[in-house]
Amino acid sequence: MNNREALREKIIGLGERSLRKTYYPELQEKLAELERFRALLDQSNDCIFLLSIPSLRLVDANESACRQLGYSRQELLSLSLAELAPAEALATVQRLVAANGGKEASQEMLTTVLLRHNGGNFPAEITLRLVSFDRERYGVAVARDITERLRGEEALRTQFSQISTIFDSLNALVYVADLESGRFLYMNRYGMAMFGDDWAEKSCRSLFPEGECGPCSYYGSDRLVREGEPLPPLESESFNKITGRWYRCIDRAVRWTDGRLVRIEIAVDITEFKEIERLKDEMISAVSHEMRTPLTAVLGFTELLLEGIVEPADQKTHLATVYREAERLSRLVNNFIDLQRMRTGQQLYTFRDIAVHPLLAEVIGQFAGVSPIHRLTLDCPEELPAVRGDGERLREVVINLISNAVKYSPKGGIVAVAGRCDGEHVIISVRDEGIGIPPELLGMIFERFYRVDNTDRRPFGGAGLGLAVVWEIVTAHGGRVWVESAPGQGSTFFVQLPAEKQ
Ligand code: ADP
Repeated sequence: MNNREALREKIIGLGERSLRKTYYPELQEKLAELERFRALLDQSNDCIFLLSIPSLRLVDANESACRQLGYSRQELLSLSLAELAPAEALATVQRLVAANGGKEASQEMLTTVLLRHNGGNFPAEITLRLVSFDRERYGVAVARDITERLRGEEALRTQFSQISTIFDSLNALVYVADLESGRFLYMNRYGMAMFGDDWAEKSCRSLFPEGECGPCSYYGSDRLVREGEPLPPLESESFNKITGRWYRCIDRAVRWTDGRLVRIEIAVDITEFKEIERLKDEMISAVSHEMRTPLTAVLGFTELLLEGIVEPADQKTHLATVYREAERLSRLVNNFIDLQRMRTGQQLYTFRDIAVHPLLAEVIGQFAGVSPIHRLTLDCPEELPAVRGDGERLREVVINLISNAVKYSPKGGIVAVAGRCDGEHVIISVRDEGIGIPPELLGMIFERFYRVDNTDRRPFGGAGLGLAVVWEIVTAHGGRVWVESAPGQGSTFFVQLPAEKQ
């Protein structure tokens, strides 16, 4: 009797080899049971093999194995596992068998491919279990075709990578955290830069400490969930003391893949926006303050003049003051409007060839008589190459520089305006003998609304707009502006503009 028959007999209980007549009904019942058992195995969509150990030859196989591998049962039973699976899978099976030392094993699982009769193959997950009887060892292998599962997993991976790409490209923090513990479940790249690569070990509270009005502790689960259902999203703005930045956050509860409710948060860094808002407020108060001073002077002096009680000799001085203050007011308003236009991209420039000498001479003429303690000089060759620019805007540049030179040299002195050409560029400079600028602030004075605000400068007033306007205009002309200065030793501002080819 060969092994296979012995096995069948063992299964149906004929191991005792008793053939007594009284045994027949029982035998029939056992046979029927065996047929039912085979029918059941044949019903399965999994390929089921019985392998002899250690040869790994197939001793039995179900209907599904024949169908999926493309063999008849007879053909299959002449094969060994080596002809149905690649070498590495075979090696794994052999390792399992060897490791088990012949004892019945708990289940082992491996993922491999099974080779079809027609040369094709399909991915399979094989569960292998060792059994033994009659001192013989067998392997029961149940192989499941996992083509669909792998396809599904691949589709999921693609979907996840698409969604990750979208979230990773956002310039905002996106995370998912457990509602109660705050432990992170997902973090986009922006978030990883904040929380580190080991974010999975952390909780959102590490960035929003207890008691902080940060989004994480601010929105308790009661504000995101009611009666087990997610509430509409909540929006908030908050300052985070740890990062030192402002965030606009959208928080909501969503159902996570494992069914529990979790918090998803999108937080956009709005620090710059907040800074602009703060600067705007500061600017409005500085501009309104700045407007009041010249207006008071204009109103006061014109009132005096209208009353007719001013000596004729003083009238001219009073009128000069009115003119100077009105001019200051007009410059302030012009700067303000210019900057607004530049910020919104509405400033339009009309470029033509501008002769530099007449422009400088005209602006200096405008300042004549404005300050009796300052002497304005001009050192510029008349034949200096023209620059391509907007004459009106370039005038504003020079006016702002000269008026600063006058303003920040309260003891008077020379304000030297010069123009020269270094071949490719025309360089206009305005030098004064005033209070100078501390070195650490040299890089900041061109910023919008920036004022060097220390006590010795407070009396000068100003809204911090002039140099920002200068910077915007010069940059729009493809030029450069910079300053050389030292406290107490005056300042020289340089404007470099591309020279027109002659
Ligand atoms: P404002 O003069 O209205 O404050 P500006 O933008 O023209 O604004 O100048 C910015 C700051 O740069 C001023 O507050 C001042 O402290 C400094 N500054 C500008 N020009 C000079 C200068 N010629 N000498 C010394 N400091 C200057």
